[in-house]
Amino acid sequence: MACHAGRYREGRPGVLIMREQDWKKATICVQGGYKAGNGEPRVLPVYQSTTYKYDSSEELAKLFDLASDGHMYTRISNPTVAAVEDKIAKLEGGVGAMMTSSGQAASLISVLNIASEGDNFLMMGNLYGGTTNLFLVTMKRMGIEARVVNDSMSDEEILAKVDSRTRLFFGETIANPSLDVFDFDRFVPLAKKAGLPLVIDNTFATPILCNPIKLGADIVIHSTTKYMDGHAMVVGGVIVDGGSFDWEGSGRYPELTEPDESYHGVIYTKQFGRSAYITKARVQLMRDLGSTPQPFAAFLLNIGLETLDLRIRRHSDNALKVAGYLRSRTDLVKSVSYPGLEDSADHDKAMRYLEGGMASGVVSFSMKGGREKAMKFMDSLRMAAIVVHVADARTCVLNPASTTHRQLSDEMLVAAGIDPGFVRLSVGIEDADDIIQDIREALDKCL
Ligand SMILES: *Cc1c(COP(=O)(O)O)cnc(C)c1O
Repeated sequence: MACHAGRYREGRPGVLIMREQDWKKATICVQGGYKAGNGEPRVLPVYQSTTYKYDSSEELAKLFDLASDGHMYTRISNPTVAAVEDKIAKLEGGVGAMMTSSGQAASLISVLNIASEGDNFLMMGNLYGGTTNLFLVTMKRMGIEARVVNDSMSDEEILAKVDSRTRLFFGETIANPSLDVFDFDRFVPLAKKAGLPLVIDNTFATPILCNPIKLGADIVIHSTTKYMDGHAMVVGGVIVDGGSFDWEGSGRYPELTEPDESYHGVIYTKQFGRSAYITKARVQLMRDLGSTPQPFAAFLLNIGLETLDLRIRRHSDNALKVAGYLRSRTDLVKSVSYPGLEDSADHDKAMRYLEGGMASGVVSFSMKGGREKAMKFMDSLRMAAIVVHVADARTCVLNPASTTHRQLSDEMLVAAGIDPGFVRLSVGIEDADDIIQDIREALDKCL
C-alpha cells in the first residue's frame, strides 16, 4: 500500500482512492479516452458520420464562432477520433491532441501552425528521410527555411542560426534510422535560451518509453503508423500540445496572439489559454488543409494502443537480444547500432530518457561487403520480410542502398552518412529465438 501513497489520493484517513489522473500508462492504453455510460457499448464505437445534428441554427452558429464546444463536421472533429486523441494526450501528458491522416501531415501542420512565408526553423540533421524532404525541399518552396543543426555543433554555432524569424526547434527522440537519442539535457535549455518551442517526433520511442513534454519539449508529434498502430494497418499521425510554451510572453507568434480574420478576430491565446496551439491547428489548419483521419482509422489505432505498453516492452527485449547476436557475428557484421547496448555511444542517453533504458525494436547494422552482401542477407531471410515499413509486430528489414536511396552511388551514400551495407532491422514480437535463428541462417548463406 505504502508504495502507492504518492499516486492515489487519501480519502478517509488511511483509505486511498484512485482517480483517472492517477492511472499509469498501461491503464491509459487500455481504458483511457472512452468511458461507457450505463447500457452503452463497452468498446469505443465507430461514429461513421460526416455530420452532426443540432436543434437550432443558433447552436450551430455558436460552433462556427468557436463560442461553444461540439462536433460540426468530421473534417474538423469526430467523436471516435476525439476519444483516441484524448487517450494519446493523456499518454503524453499534454493538454490536447489532434490526429492527422499521416505522420507527414502531423510534421507539416506542427510547423505551419507557427511559421509562415519568410520564417525559418531549426531541424536536427538526423530526421527521418520523409521529414527531411518535407522540410528542406517542399517547405522551401512555401518560403519557409529549415536550418540544419547537429550534436557536433557548439551551442554558439547553433544559436548563430537563430534570428528574429526563427520559430521552432525540431528533433526526434530516437532518430530513424540512425537511432541517435535526442540530447534533452543539452537542447531543452538551448531552445529556451533561443526562445523557441521544442517540437519532438516521438515515433520510435512511443509515449510508453518517453514523454518528451515531461523532459521539457513543448509539442510532440508521432507517425502513429508505426508502434502505436503496431500492426501495419493504418497510416496516421498525431500532434500533442504540451501547453507549456508562453506564446504571449515570447511576442514572436502573431498567428496565436493576434486576431484570426477567418474567425471574426478570435485570439487563440486569449480564448483558449494553454490549448491555443492545438486549437488553432484544428479549427484553422485542419479546417483549411483537410488532412483528416477517418473514424475507422481511429478505431483501428485504438485497438493497437490498447496493447502498446505490452508490445513495446517485448520489441525492446527482442531487439536487445538480436543486437547482441549481431554483435557476435564479427565475421560478417561490421557494426551494430542500438542504444540499448551497453557500449553504444547513446546508451547513457537511453538510460536517462527512455523508460528502463528500453530502446524499442529497431536495430541498425552494417554488413561487411557492402550493398551486395546486405541484399544477399535480406534475400536469404525466410521469416523476416523485406518491406517499406518499420515498427510493427512482424520482423522486417530494409536496405536503404537498394531501395529508398538506390539512385545514389556508393560514394554518394557514404557522403550522406549511409553505409552501403547498412540494414535497418525492425525486430517484431515473435519469439526472439526464432528471429535470431532466421538471422543466423541468412547470415550463414553470406559466408
Ligand atoms: C514514418 C515516419 C514518419 C512519417 O509518417 P507517415 O505516417 O509515414 O506519414 C515521420 N517520422 C518518423 C520518425 C517516421 O518513422
